[in-house]
Amino acid sequence: MKRGEVILTIILGLLILLVLARLTTPREIDDINPNWTCEGNYLQKADIIWVTPLKNNVPISNNQTWCEEILAMNKTIGMHGIYHSYHEFKYFVNETELQKGKEIFNDCFGYEPTLFKPPYLRLSLENKKLLEQNNLTIKWIWNQNIHKVYHCENTGVFPNWFHDLF
Ligand SMILES: [Zn+2]
Repeated sequence: MKRGEVILTIILGLLILLVLARLTTPREIDDINPNWTCEGNYLQKADIIWVTPLKNNVPISNNQTWCEEILAMNKTIGMHGIYHSYHEFKYFVNETELQKGKEIFNDCFGYEPTLFKPPYLRLSLENKKLLEQNNLTIKWIWNQNIHKVYHCENTGVFPNWFHDLF
C-alpha cells in the first residue's frame, strides 16, 4: 500500500472502532434537573443520567416527587456540576460549595454521588484535585466521545437524534 492508503486505512479503522464503542457503551444524558424539560424519550433511553443539584440556586431536593420519579427509573446517577454555570469547574470552586452540592444530591437520592462530570467538560487541575479528594470519579472528554450522550434540552454539540444514528 502507498503511504496515503495506509493513513486512510488507519483513519477508517479508528472511526469504525469509535462507532463500535458508541454502540456498545451505556448511553448517557446530561443536564438533568426538575427545571429542565427533556426532549423526547431520551431520559428513558439513557443508562446513566447526569444531574445538576443546584441549577438556578434551587435544590433538587425541594422536589421530592421528582427525586422519587428519577430513582424509580433505576439508573446510574452522577453529579453534573453544582449550579451548571458557564465553565463552572474551569474556575475556582470552593470545598463548601462542592459539599453543599453533594448534600443536596444525597437529600434527593439517599446516597452521596460517586461520579462527576464537569459542565461544558471544562475542569481546572485544582478542581480536578478537589473532586478526587472528595472520592468522585471524573468522567470527562474521553468518556463523552466514546458514549452516546444525549442532552436533556438538546443543547449538545450533536443533536439527540444524531446519537441514535451513530
Ligand atoms: Zn451540561
